Amino acid sequence: MTTFASLDAGHGDEEIDLQRLHPASTAKLTLVSPTTPTVDLVRAEQAVTELLLSFGADLADESLAETPARVARAYAELLQPQPFSLTTFANDEGYDELVVTKDIPFHSLCEHHLLPFTGVAHVGYLPDERILGLSKLARVVEHFARRLQLQERLTSQVAAWLDEHLNPKGVGVVIEAEHQCMSLRGAKVKGSKTVTSALSGLVRHDQRTRAEFLSLVAAK
Ligand code: ZN
Repeated sequence: MTTFASLDAGHGDEEIDLQRLHPASTAKLTLVSPTTPTVDLVRAEQAVTELLLSFGADLADESLAETPARVARAYAELLQPQPFSLTTFANDEGYDELVVTKDIPFHSLCEHHLLPFTGVAHVGYLPDERILGLSKLARVVEHFARRLQLQERLTSQVAAWLDEHLNPKGVGVVIEAEHQCMSLRGAKVKGSKTVTSALSGLVRHDQRTRAEFLSLVAAK
């Protein structure tokens, strides 16, 4: 088996060149492991206990007794993406139009308030030599959403990752999300959405491609 060290050194990716294993195959598989640190559940549980005590909670109350452990597990789940395999294929037929997956639902955790932000991502690319298994665009979004995050960073990380792993002619990512730190506290602007975008290559610089991507994203 031929195993490549990843371009993403230190990010835990591992590439296996299927073409060398099976010369007829044009598929290339990248195993993507979580890039988030593993969670110390015991420490998290202790910290939640302290947080609850600081608000005067009575942890002797039967209904609260297991809360620190439950909260620790809930945050662990929110912050740990599942590993996935990224399969790319040779673009044998020379497909040269945009590929866009719209309305990918996601949730993430705002690193400033530890409150969720939720919404949809629209992710597209203009293929060059390789194309991607379609469901994988959603997996890439989830991969970067399951961590302490900012919407701006999430948007640019998804775009940069696709640029690096797919080498397309261009990438476009638009994310629309509602932040509970804005809707439940502070400004309390319920229902307002924050929109961020990251465009690269021809999706950014070619007028026609850019306009087409943005109109595909805007279409209902
Ligand atoms: Zn926030």
